[in-house]
Amino acid sequence: MPLVRYPVNFIRFLGTAGTRFIMLSQRRSSGGIWFSYGGARGVIDPGPGSLVRICEARPSLSPIDINTIILTHRHIDHSSDVNALVEGMVLKSQTPRGFILSTRDALEDEDRVIMRYLLPRIAKTAIHEDGKFTSPVGGVTIESVIHSHHGVECYGCVFRASGLPSWGVISDTAPLPDFPSRYGTCELLVINTALMFPRAKLDHMSLPDVESLLARTAPAAAVITHMGADLLDRGGEYISRRLAAKVIAATDGMVLTLENPMTILKPEGFDDDGAQE
Ligand SMILES: [Zn+2]
Ligand SMILES: [Zn+2]
Repeated sequence: MPLVRYPVNFIRFLGTAGTRFIMLSQRRSSGGIWFSYGGARGVIDPGPGSLVRICEARPSLSPIDINTIILTHRHIDHSSDVNALVEGMVLKSQTPRGFILSTRDALEDEDRVIMRYLLPRIAKTAIHEDGKFTSPVGGVTIESVIHSHHGVECYGCVFRASGLPSWGVISDTAPLPDFPSRYGTCELLVINTALMFPRAKLDHMSLPDVESLLARTAPAAAVITHMGADLLDRGGEYISRRLAAKVIAATDGMVLTLENPMTILKPEGFDDDGAQE
């Protein structure tokens, strides 16, 4: 039965592309993650096509509903549509509106990605610092978790809200030893997993890194996204076989409830075989 209405709390994978090659071919979309959680609504890492994927989504989503935008880092596959989404966030408000959580380099450097002329229209901007808690709306906290990723400032997030499952996003990063403790309370983990196997000099998580992290944490569900070519060639079935059954390989448009029990919902046009490849 097609999904006709989103639950109050959910995430939708606007895109699941990892690596520049997958982004540039659009073999998978690259729009980041839409989330609605405890009254915070917005996108994590709005890469190329994010606005288009939002406007095409069924059931519908609208950039005008956004009140929260999060950049884990400034790389183009995570940030190219951020200014368009800020326009959506502030469009209907005469006074500054919304919340942006960003790295310092994406917001303040000379080579920043968030345009300066938009800043007076945003009600609150916050900069990631390791262990710092920020709050986009009352009742929701976001804890920043420092990552290690090719020399750019990069952070993951842990989201918490009373009465809702806590969830964590591990962005582009080499696996770090404190991830099991930092993400240990998350009931859902979303993990950017670009690689099939660890590769020296590439600061990305691989399937064995995910396996080892999940052996030391106990989320009720885990989703891998931001996948590179090797993983996409093998497909979701292979990934599920390699990892525990609770691990899902995301596909574009996939919707997951952020309420207990966390379940996958099937929007119109969604193909859980990943057949859009
Ligand atoms: Zn990156
Ligand atoms: Zn990336």
